[in-house]
Amino acid sequence: MGNVFGPVPSRRLGNSLGINLTPLKTCNYSCIYCQLGKTTNFTNERKEYIPTKSIIEELNYAIKTSNIPIDYITFVGDGEPTLHSGIGDIIKWIRDTYQNKYKIAVVTNGSLFYLEEVREELMDVDLILPSIDAPDEKKYKLINRPIMNVEYNEIINGLKIFAKNFKGKIWVEIMLIKDVNDSKEDIEKIAEIIKSINPIPEKVFINVPVRPPVEKWVKIPDQESLAYALKIIPNSSSIAFREEGEFDISRYKNSIEAILDITEKHPLRLEQAMKIISEFNEDKEKVLDKLKEKLNIVSYDNEKYLEIIK
Ligand code: SF4
Repeated sequence: MGNVFGPVPSRRLGNSLGINLTPLKTCNYSCIYCQLGKTTNFTNERKEYIPTKSIIEELNYAIKTSNIPIDYITFVGDGEPTLHSGIGDIIKWIRDTYQNKYKIAVVTNGSLFYLEEVREELMDVDLILPSIDAPDEKKYKLINRPIMNVEYNEIINGLKIFAKNFKGKIWVEIMLIKDVNDSKEDIEKIAEIIKSINPIPEKVFINVPVRPPVEKWVKIPDQESLAYALKIIPNSSSIAFREEGEFDISRYKNSIEAILDITEKHPLRLEQAMKIISEFNEDKEKVLDKLKEKLNIVSYDNEKYLEIIK
């Protein structure tokens, strides 16, 4: 249990019912800006990390019991969802059972579009949100630190082949990092990559590392670089701000349970945790004291975040 969560407020998807398909940090990348910590299960193997059947059961239960209307069912979570070999079957189950009642989104690092089987499995969703952070091969290795030996060109080419036949929408996300990929030259190269995808992705979100990154030296770029990226990258907009929505805490028994579960899957600011404690009418000091054993408070970009002690 615990692989379907929410609905949680999402910056772009409204109320998103999340599906996590992998154990924590199962990924073929080890991005310098990752907010989930170090990649502990570093692999490019596609397999059924969690039984497809149990994911479907959990999903069905969550859909039937949700108190909040669901805008999107979103594959997102503790690692790269396309590494799960049952993702195509789960998508097919959602369509067969609920037709088009729910929109389906996949948040992916985009690394496996070079595989024909992955392109086919994702063809029937409404929205794909792949990442494109690197201007070239060298920066790809520096930023995303992939485990597999596949050229950056091949990864981008896979996305281009997918885009040509895909009927849904593609929203790309670019993580802009100070002194890593935020020079004019790098931004121009990224803009060329975006323009080479046909049709050009409907939206391109420029993000900055607003949440605590795995590598402490990763920094938020200057406004100037962000403005330049927004000017020259087609269909771009900034998501370089924090989400402000509410969390659905109705299924938790107390604030400790809610805070621990949310923090595992979603960065939680101290002020948001305080709000959750007040909603349960509990004593803030006592709750924070109990949480001390399991959570650290870390400062990043003038904010305080809760972080699970590993
Ligand atoms: S692809 Fe996502 S989960 Fe994997 S390391 Fe990068 S940011 Fe983390």
